[in-house]
Amino acid sequence: MAVAGGMRFRVGGNRAPRWYPSIMSDALGPGRDLLRSDCYVGGIWVGADERFPVEDPSTGEVLARVPDLPDAVVDDALVAAARAFPAWRARPAHERAGFLARMAARMHDRERELGALITAENGKPLAEAVGEVRYAASFLEWFAGEAVRVYGETLPATRSDQRITVLREPVGPCAFITPWNFPAAMLTRKLGPALAAGCTVVAKPAEATPLTTLALAGIADELGLPAGVFNVVTGEAARVGGHLITSRWIRKISFTGSTEVGRLIQRAAADHLARVSLELGGNAPFLVFADADLDRAVAAALIAKFRNAGQSCVAANRFLVEGRVAGLFGEKLVAEIKKLVVADGRTPNASIGPLINRDAVAKVRRLVEDAVARGARLVHGAVPAADHQLVEPVVLAGITSDMPIWREEIFGPVVAMRTFATEAEAIALANDTEYGLVAYLCSRDASRQVRVAEALEVGMIGVNEGLISTAQAPFGGVKQSGYGREGSHHGLDDYTVYKYVNTRVEPA
Ligand code: ADP
Repeated sequence: MAVAGGMRFRVGGNRAPRWYPSIMSDALGPGRDLLRSDCYVGGIWVGADERFPVEDPSTGEVLARVPDLPDAVVDDALVAAARAFPAWRARPAHERAGFLARMAARMHDRERELGALITAENGKPLAEAVGEVRYAASFLEWFAGEAVRVYGETLPATRSDQRITVLREPVGPCAFITPWNFPAAMLTRKLGPALAAGCTVVAKPAEATPLTTLALAGIADELGLPAGVFNVVTGEAARVGGHLITSRWIRKISFTGSTEVGRLIQRAAADHLARVSLELGGNAPFLVFADADLDRAVAAALIAKFRNAGQSCVAANRFLVEGRVAGLFGEKLVAEIKKLVVADGRTPNASIGPLINRDAVAKVRRLVEDAVARGARLVHGAVPAADHQLVEPVVLAGITSDMPIWREEIFGPVVAMRTFATEAEAIALANDTEYGLVAYLCSRDASRQVRVAEALEVGMIGVNEGLISTAQAPFGGVKQSGYGREGSHHGLDDYTVYKYVNTRVEPA
C-alpha cells in the first residue's frame, strides 16, 4: 500500500506527563509514569492546543487534559497506520506473537498501576479494575497463541495441471472505537487479533476514559512496537470517530458501544465498503426457574448485575423469575445486596463504584421513576438522587412490558423483576426485545437447560453462571446487538481475508 504525502507531526515531547494532579500521583504511586496526556501517532506523542478534561467520576477532579486532535493529525495517524502495514504484516507471525506476549506480561507486571488508572477514570473498584487488567491481558496472550495458527489451505484441483492454494492475509489498517465501561479490555479484545493477523491500528477511546488506552500505547512504545503499528487518537466523538470511519485508508472498523452509534458507523462505512464489526447494546434476560439452586442463582445474579455498577452490555437487565420462587429468590437476593458497599473505587471494601457521569445517573433515575409511576414495586432501595454519582442498588418487582425499563439498557445497579408461569412464557418474554447479546438461565434440569438455551435469541448464554466472558470463547450478539465475534479462534476472522491462488503447472 503506497502512502502519499508526509506526516505533520506536532511533537509534544512530553513523555513525562504534564498533567497529573496530586490525586493521581497518590493513587498511582510509582506507576504515575503510566499517565499520559498526549496522543500516540506514528510512534510519537502528539499534543494539541485544544484539549478536553478527563474527570474522576468518584471525585469530579480533573485527572488530565487530553488532545481534541485536529483532523490533520488524525490523518497523520491514518497515514502512519497505512505506512506501517506492509512491514508489520511481513514480520514472521512468531515475532508478532512475541510482541503480544510481552505486552501481556508487562500489563501483569503493572496491574496495580493500570488498575489504579482504570479506577481513577472509570470509577470501578480497584479490585475489579485489576481484574479487568488481567482479563485485558488474557486477550493478548490468547491471540499471541493464535497468531502462529493463521493457516491457509491447499485444495484438490479439478484439473491435473492446476494447483490451488488459499492464503490467509491481514485485512489491512483498522480503526477501533471503544467505550468507557471496560477501557482496557475493550481495546485489547480488538488489538490482540488485529496485531496477530498483521493489521495496524488507529484506536479512538471514549472521551470519558482515554487514559488507559494511552497508557497501553505507552507500554507498546516501551516494548519497541514499530512506529505506526498502533496509534491512539482522542477528540470529539463524532468528528474524530467520523474521520476514522470514513477514511479510505481503513479496511476494517471494529466498534463497541451503543446500537445507535453502531448504526451510524455501518452507514458511514458503506461509502468505502470497509468491513465492520459491531458489539452493541444488550438487554439481557436473567431467567430463574423454580427448579434452580436459588443460592447459586443469587450468586450468578450479583455478578451479572452489579459488576461495573451494572454498566456493562452483558449486565442482567430483566430478571424473569418463576412465580413459585419469586418471593424467596427476591429475599435471598436483597439479603446479599445489603452487603454490597457503594463507595469511591479506592475504598478497600468497595463493591460498587460511581456511575460514569451525571447523564448516566439521570437515565437510571428516569427508568426507575417511570417504572414506579407505572406500578412497579420498590422492593429495595429508592429512586436514585440526581446529584450523586454513587447510586445504591435498587430492586423493583412487578415490571411490565410497557415500561421503558423493560425495553432499554439500564446501565446501573437496578434489578428489574417480573414473574412467569411456564417455560414457554419465560422464553417468549426473554426474546421480547430488539437486542440479542446474552442471556442467563438458572435451572437444575439438564433438558430444560438445553431447550431454553436453544430457544433464546442471543449470541451467548450463561447457565447457572453470571460471568461468562473469557478470551477463548466467541463474544458477540445477534439482532440489534450487532455482529462479529471477539475472542476465541473466530476472533481472527474479522481481521483476515482469504486470497485464492490458482497456479498452472506445465508438464516437465
Ligand atoms: P456509550 O453509550 O457506551 O457511551 P457510545 O456509542 O456513545 O456508547 O460511545 C462508544 C464509543 O463511540 C465512544 O468511543 C464514543 O466516543 C464513540 N462515538 C460516539 N458517537 C460517535 C459518532 N457519531 N461517530 C463515531 N464515534 C462515536
